Amino acid sequence: MTLVIDRIGVLVTNDPARGEGPLGVVRDAAVVCDGDRVIAVERAGVAADERLDVDGGCVLPGFVDSHTHLVFAGDRASEFVARMAGADYSTGGIRTTVDATRQASDDALRRLARQRWFEAVSTGTTHVEIKSGYGLDAHHEARCLRLAQELTDDTTFLGLHVVPSHMTADPDGFVREVVFETLPACAPRSRWIDVFCERGAFDVDQCRTVLDAGRAAGLGLKVHANQLGQGPGVTLAVEMGAASADHCTHLSAADVDALASSQTVATLLPAADFSTRQPYPDGRRLLDAGATVALATNCNPGSSYTTSMPLCLTLAVRELHMTIEEALRAATLGGASALRREDIGRIRPGARADLQILDAPSYEHLVYRLGAPLTRCVIVGGRVAFQRQP
Ligand SMILES: [Zn+2]
Repeated sequence: MTLVIDRIGVLVTNDPARGEGPLGVVRDAAVVCDGDRVIAVERAGVAADERLDVDGGCVLPGFVDSHTHLVFAGDRASEFVARMAGADYSTGGIRTTVDATRQASDDALRRLARQRWFEAVSTGTTHVEIKSGYGLDAHHEARCLRLAQELTDDTTFLGLHVVPSHMTADPDGFVREVVFETLPACAPRSRWIDVFCERGAFDVDQCRTVLDAGRAAGLGLKVHANQLGQGPGVTLAVEMGAASADHCTHLSAADVDALASSQTVATLLPAADFSTRQPYPDGRRLLDAGATVALATNCNPGSSYTTSMPLCLTLAVRELHMTIEEALRAATLGGASALRREDIGRIRPGARADLQILDAPSYEHLVYRLGAPLTRCVIVGGRVAFQRQP
């Protein structure tokens, strides 16, 4: 069964060999899908079994949100309100979510995660990575990963997020438990392992121990790095060949150089910096140095409760000094690189049929029309997953 998305005014392919500029823009185009794959990018007016006429609208790859914590229960609005009134961000609030998540039933957690997934899809996201980290023991971490697997194949065991309340006097004991009990229960349900390397969270030796164990279990590596201050997180990520170092808000010149000369993607999470009143990362500096940059939401109840990639694009352009084209690439191809995937984040034959159709003549409107709901239709794996009612 073939589907053609026809009469596209501006098509962003992210394939410079196929069209104009770094985004590979093709005008008056059609995209032909068969099942869950793109099979051709053509001139408008192609025949297929089914036809979706977008009437000159703009079509682009779905957003790849490569950093989320979508599976959780509980509400932490009061912490956000307090921060907006001047309080500092503290990592200790994570335990509030751990308690609520552990108490929630599978059905309740599933319903909450699905609501957030649908919310993300309705603003153009077609793929998410989902981390655990609100279970903190073998049973609860594996349960959260099992629920995450219902929504994505990019699941991440966030082994070191926070030390559970009953073990605060023995963080090294907790690290041993993660390596010898929790990791074996979670590795079969994960593609990635992640650690929170930060003052107030875990030190570099603890992080290295857990990443080494994760790698031995066959998982790819990710690091929450340099969010709240300068530190060893980025160096560790690059040294260990992690796919991404996430946050990168406080970087030294050596960190920037290390990222630029490595395969480790700098994943920037500007909605978290917004929600915690932190300074923003210097996206411009990273791009000018030659680093690969991804943008993601970091959707979580403590420091960034948003699923909106358009909001992240807006912040990236306004506050991280990225061009709209750079921000758009970071939110699609950059996310795919952070997940080491070639099948998403672009529109070309063989790629997964993940696309978004805008109620706008060009992709610039995603940033220019601040906060406007421009997503008309979203296709995930060749199927319409969201369609705005007229
Ligand atoms: Zn995170």
